[in-house]
Amino acid sequence: MKCIFSDFDGTLTNNGFLGPVFFDILNLIEKHNSELVIVSGRSLSWGHFMLTHFPLKHIIMEGGGVIITRTKDGEFIEENLVYDEEIQELAEHTIKLKEQIPSVIMSADSFGRRTDRAVEFLYMNEKDVDKVRNYFIKNNINFSQSNVHINFWLGDVSKANAVDYYLKNYAPHLNKDECLFYGDAMNDESMFKFFPNTVGVSNIISVLDSLKFKPKIILEGKDNSGANGVYNHLKDLFDQSADF
Ligand SMILES: [Mg+2]
Repeated sequence: MKCIFSDFDGTLTNNGFLGPVFFDILNLIEKHNSELVIVSGRSLSWGHFMLTHFPLKHIIMEGGGVIITRTKDGEFIEENLVYDEEIQELAEHTIKLKEQIPSVIMSADSFGRRTDRAVEFLYMNEKDVDKVRNYFIKNNINFSQSNVHINFWLGDVSKANAVDYYLKNYAPHLNKDECLFYGDAMNDESMFKFFPNTVGVSNIISVLDSLKFKPKIILEGKDNSGANGVYNHLKDLFDQSADF
C-alpha cells in the first residue's frame, strides 16, 4: 500500500489515549516507504499540532473541511474546502445555537475550528442533544456524530470528498486501490464507501449496524481495538499475509 489514510480518535488511539503503538505504526509505515495521511474530525489547530510533531506531510482536518500541508521549510499551507461565505454563516449559526439552547456544550477545541464546530454531546443530557439535532435539521446544517463529538458544518464536506480532492490535486500519481483506510465510527462511513480497501478496527462493533457502508474488513477481538488493530493489520499486510 502506497498510502495509508486513517481516522484519528478511536482508530490511532486506545481508550482515548495516544500510546506508544501509534509511534510503532509511524515507524512501520516509514520502513515500508508508505505514507500516512490522517483524516480527522478534530480541529485545524489539532492538525497544526500533529503536523508539527509527527512525521507527516499532509493532514485532512475538520471532517474534510481543510487540508494542511507542511512544506520542506516547515511552513504550513492551508486549503479550505468550503466557501468563505459558508465559514461566516457557520459562525453566525453557532452564536444562534448557543442563544437558543444555552445548555449546549461546545467542544474545547471549537475555538481552533474554521470550517466546522463540534458539540460535546457526551456531557449533555439526551433531551438537549435532541434539541441541538433539531436545530441543525431545521436550519439545513449538516452534522455527523463521531465517537467524541457531533460535528456540524455548511457546504459539501465529507472525509471522502476531501480525500477525492486530495488524490486529484495533491497526489495524482496515486491510484485509489493503492490506498487503504482505517476507521472506527459513523463519520468514517463516506470513506468506507469511497475506498475499495477499508478496515474497521474492532471497536467499530458498536456502530456497525448503523453503517450503510461498512468496511471491507472488520477486525475482531479486544487486541484489535484502536491503534493496536491498525498496527496488527498493517504488520500482517506488509508481511504480505493479510487480505487485499
Ligand atoms: Mg474515530
